[in-house]
Amino acid sequence: MPKRLQRPNGSHYSSRRAFDAAALKREFPSLADPRLHYLDNAATAQMPDAVLSALHRFELEARANVHEGLHRLARAATHAYDEARARVARFVHAYSADEIIFTYGATSAINLLAYSLGRLLQPGDEILLSVLEHHSNLVPWQELAKRRGVILRYLPVTPDGRLDLDWLETEVSARCRLVALSHCSNVTGALTDVARVVAAARNVGAKVMLDGAQRAPHGPLDVRSLGVDFYVFSGHKTYGPTGVGVLWGRRELLEALPPFLTGGQMIDQVTLTSASFRPPPRRFEAGTPPIAAAIGLGVALDWMRSLDWHAIQHHELRLTRRILEGLASMPGVRVVGPLDTHDRRGVIAFCLEGHCAQEVCRQLDQHGVALRGGHHCAQPLAHALGVSGTARASLAPYCLDEDIDALLEGLEHMLCSGPSPVHRRSP
Ligand code: PMP
Repeated sequence: MPKRLQRPNGSHYSSRRAFDAAALKREFPSLADPRLHYLDNAATAQMPDAVLSALHRFELEARANVHEGLHRLARAATHAYDEARARVARFVHAYSADEIIFTYGATSAINLLAYSLGRLLQPGDEILLSVLEHHSNLVPWQELAKRRGVILRYLPVTPDGRLDLDWLETEVSARCRLVALSHCSNVTGALTDVARVVAAARNVGAKVMLDGAQRAPHGPLDVRSLGVDFYVFSGHKTYGPTGVGVLWGRRELLEALPPFLTGGQMIDQVTLTSASFRPPPRRFEAGTPPIAAAIGLGVALDWMRSLDWHAIQHHELRLTRRILEGLASMPGVRVVGPLDTHDRRGVIAFCLEGHCAQEVCRQLDQHGVALRGGHHCAQPLAHALGVSGTARASLAPYCLDEDIDALLEGLEHMLCSGPSPVHRRSP
């Protein structure tokens, strides 16, 4: 019997330690330079001391392969890896640690699901996606559609970059088997109304997968109360190492799925002509898993659980409001996404007339401000909203007012210097 996990003490937003953004920032050695204003957290967040020292400790004291080892180091590695799985389970409030599969990132988690679940689908079955998905939640399903004759349908977006859920009832047909949507947009920061999505999917017996790559960095999750079936996110955006991610799935659903990658560690018995497979999660973790990264991720998620997310949310939304107000006061600036802080997280994309997104990022880099520029792996969304690319600022709990000052001052400086040469009209 899998071990049942206790609900984390109290509410997810219960205060663990008083939140002080400046003090929190000091836990991040990579942010020590006061001239650096790191606002590219939606791409990759930084790692706190707790994670860095856990990684260091693992490499020094427990570096070995997991599962089959019979020596002290292998036992220590296996123990730490199992503990990491339990930590992830507590972070998402899973029913059991066996529901947590370590992958190599959100992309590899979605590919796993597209392949494994896809093998159970029939031609003509439908999957509902949306126009605002990250390519990681589009392309694996497109490839599946080619392989299995599955039909993809898409929810449109509103002009302010939210999912247009008024189309749910039309787009979730009786042939719908899966609704796979982002929990939070990596471009507009808009949060998805999960309850509405789940209700529509349940009406027709479809499963729901959320791409939580941009939601997980903003506080612990509760997959049980969300009512979804699968949830994915990446370690490097949740203050953990790169090269690791998570697929959570309801145990009975995972049990029914065939494996994706095959090889060592995931088998039960192998002959020269056949193999049988272990139950989840190991069925889905072929080969040597990302051991150190998973251990680091477990520590990162415990670190997150120790924070006061109520206060952090307030802090991040206050900074978001400052950015939105600052951008609104600048001529020629268009925010691509909601103009207020209602149902959103601190991911703010914008265009500056006369400057391409890459140029904005390069110029801001000279002011020490780290932004992301381009289509953000969401080309269909850029197309739908009529932009070729945007610059994007994205927040984390350690972002401070001075980071926002640097961003706004850098942009004002750019606006004063006029359009970049490629955008200047010839006389
Ligand atoms: N989904 C969303 C919404 C994302 O923002 C990202 C990363 N930008 C991904 C999926 C893919 O994550 P990874 O590159 O870590 O696999």
